Amino acid sequence: MKKVQVLKKSYKDYLQFLEEDDREEMDQLLKKLQGKKIAMINATEFGGGVAEILHSFIPLMQDMGLDIDWWVMHGEKEFFNVTKAFHNCLQGDDACLEQQTIDTFFKYSQLNANKILNWEYDFVVIHDPQPLGLVAWRKAPDISRWIWRCHIDTSTPNLDYWNYLQHYIQQYDAVIFTMEDFVGEGLDAGRLYFITPPIDPLSYKNIPLEKEEAKKIIDRFGIDSNRPLITQISRFDPWKDPLGVIEVYKIVRKEFPSVQLALVGSMASDDPEGWDYLYMALRRAGEDYDIKIVTNFNGVSNLEVNAFQKASDIVLQKSIKEGFGLTVSEALWKGTPVIGGNTGGIRLQIEDGITGYLVDTVEECAEKVLTLLRNPALAEEMAAAGFEKVRKEFLITTNILKYLRLFNDLL
Ligand code: UDP
Repeated sequence: MKKVQVLKKSYKDYLQFLEEDDREEMDQLLKKLQGKKIAMINATEFGGGVAEILHSFIPLMQDMGLDIDWWVMHGEKEFFNVTKAFHNCLQGDDACLEQQTIDTFFKYSQLNANKILNWEYDFVVIHDPQPLGLVAWRKAPDISRWIWRCHIDTSTPNLDYWNYLQHYIQQYDAVIFTMEDFVGEGLDAGRLYFITPPIDPLSYKNIPLEKEEAKKIIDRFGIDSNRPLITQISRFDPWKDPLGVIEVYKIVRKEFPSVQLALVGSMASDDPEGWDYLYMALRRAGEDYDIKIVTNFNGVSNLEVNAFQKASDIVLQKSIKEGFGLTVSEALWKGTPVIGGNTGGIRLQIEDGITGYLVDTVEECAEKVLTLLRNPALAEEMAAAGFEKVRKEFLITTNILKYLRLFNDLL
């Protein structure tokens, strides 16, 4: 297990995003929680939404005077193959649970648990299935409160996997889901909370960029900024449907030949499937040079993601299942219209026809892309409504307030 060092952030800079009432409540809760120690544990320092959030959440909480650490658990490829299978099966994949899978999960849980036996945290927050098993090594009796934060869509889980993992989930004092629909069948857990993930309005990924500046940044990847651009920013993962996005582009191009597509993806260290899906996307794109497929290995970092989100005419998040999809809020925050898969947490961010479009199929997605490309005024109106929704509901300040309420509740 490794403690992650984070860059400093100043809570003062974020006060502008809080309403007066929330600010007062935050101050009161912070007083009550002074001296409490908090640990957050996940499986990767970079790549994917959880790491993205923790890079902002942890330094902000520290600057508020809380004693909070971020730990990343250790795992090898065999472990991450198992936990990616957990991820896929919790989202409904139809695979059999083998004894070897259980053994590997146990082995790495035990290995990492050795590091926590002498821990003295008041709150331990475990993110997603990878570190879920650590709870089996909590002290008895235990003064700490253990919280499992599930970021994925567990509304229709594979029951073999769900029932197996329930054995661990039951040992938590509280479980946080993104939305009520995600409470899987027959869940027997401590208290349930519902918290949506946030974006950080002041991170490099989300700070304001002029459109011209953004265009210059993405020019470096061979994008012609005088032509329309649709973009999806995601890990290369079957649930994000990168191949479906390429099909959408192919339909749109027939009627809008000048359109370009960018698939921007980061390769997360806890996602061994990423390379397979990247190669599949490259093959599907074939010799169409108006499809640009770029990753962190080509120099895409936070500023470049920001620029793609700002400079695109439309951002897609055509997921088939999605815990939340931070990329939706990130794009709306930049005033870019978004079309998202009609699933999970995307539905919390997109009100169909108001803050964007929700789509169920490739054909429907292509039709909505064409609608927005042909109606820039409508696209702008939707993006503006989306921005307002993100400002009210999905900023990190609101998220921290919800966590403080939860900790206070569990004291
Ligand atoms: N992301 C990134 N670079 C990329 C692709 C994705 O930084 O090339 C970021 C993206 O901006 C977002 C996060 O990774 O902040 C993905 O979070 P999301 O909730 O959309 O999906 P997850 O990967 O957690 O399933």
